[in-house]
Amino acid sequence: MIESDRPIEATSTPQAELQDIRDLGLAELGEVVAAASERSFRAGQLAGWIYGRGVGSFDAMLDLPKSFREYLKHRFRMGSATTATCARSSDGTRKLLIRLSDGEAIESVIIPSREVEATPAGDHLNQRITLCMSSQAGCAMACEFCATARMGLHRNLSVGEIVSQVFLARRELTADEHLTNYVFMGMGEPLANYPRLIKALSIMTSEWGMGISPRRITVSTVGIVPMMERLLTEIPVRIAVSLHATTNELRDRLAPINKRYPIEVLLDTCKRLPLKQRERITFEYVMLRGVNDSPEDAKRLVKLLAPLRGKVNLIFFNAFEGSGFATSPRDAVEDFQAILRKGNLTATIRESRGLDIAAACGQLYAEQAAANQD
Ligand code: SAH
Repeated sequence: MIESDRPIEATSTPQAELQDIRDLGLAELGEVVAAASERSFRAGQLAGWIYGRGVGSFDAMLDLPKSFREYLKHRFRMGSATTATCARSSDGTRKLLIRLSDGEAIESVIIPSREVEATPAGDHLNQRITLCMSSQAGCAMACEFCATARMGLHRNLSVGEIVSQVFLARRELTADEHLTNYVFMGMGEPLANYPRLIKALSIMTSEWGMGISPRRITVSTVGIVPMMERLLTEIPVRIAVSLHATTNELRDRLAPINKRYPIEVLLDTCKRLPLKQRERITFEYVMLRGVNDSPEDAKRLVKLLAPLRGKVNLIFFNAFEGSGFATSPRDAVEDFQAILRKGNLTATIRESRGLDIAAACGQLYAEQAAANQD
């Protein structure tokens, strides 16, 4: 964040102690406006500058009275996270290492992709740019094959830290690039940071906020069952569930939250989720060689998902040091996919992106990355 345009005043509060204005929704901005004895329409103007245009300083808010801008500058800061580095992959993927005000670090990944969409007028080439966002610094879920899990949970991200990832990512785009999709598949378990996640989603999807369609946002969860239905009732984003196993015995090991919410409970919840017409739940399945990639696993997966409106994303396991797993060979992944398709399940193989910059799924490990910067 560019802070250098702020006047340095002996009496001003240090930036680090000021509240991040990006923590505030429209109602709270209304309270700020009232406390400053400004007219109520200023709240909408303020939200427009902060979230709509995404400006980096109060000085840029040209239609606010100067006195009000000064008032705000003494009480708030505009975002509290900064991009420490942006690594570029040969495939166009960009990984941002983002430093938080207390020294913690998180990662967000920009993933451009092209998709051919069949339309009545012929094939249409879609340029998609997905932002993979983090919800926590570290993670407490302890999934055995995930690098972030090795960090443990450092802390939840604030609302401002979640939404700031979008503004920081936009700075790394070229003039003709725009973010089109947002996935909470970075560091952390989004539903374990529910109150902040839901507020960030409301800022992202509101007209007064960033105006992003909830259909373009996917929240990926390891299966925090009680929060799943609540999420979709509050904001109709898309949901992805990290399944990875077809027996409780194996899932207990790979994703220990399974001991609390076993497969049958998780899938029962999925059945009841309020989905839009034609919408399907994405089930993520990381292909681990000799662990969960046999034809029997595929057949069990077909049975488990048959009563559901689901589709499957098969993800190549991305190795990291000391992971103890290997990725399934491509032909095993293709055989697995063929069994799912024969069982009438839509199954897509997700190619790994950004491998050369350790930006692929499950490789985000900002603790180490941050240490390497120093
Ligand atoms: N906690 C959430 C979101 C973060 S993980 C969740 O569990 O869904 C995002 C996806 O990356 C999950 O499907 C996760 O299983 C997958 N993943 C984790 N480690 C991986 C690895 N080493 N290789 C490939 N995918 C991985």
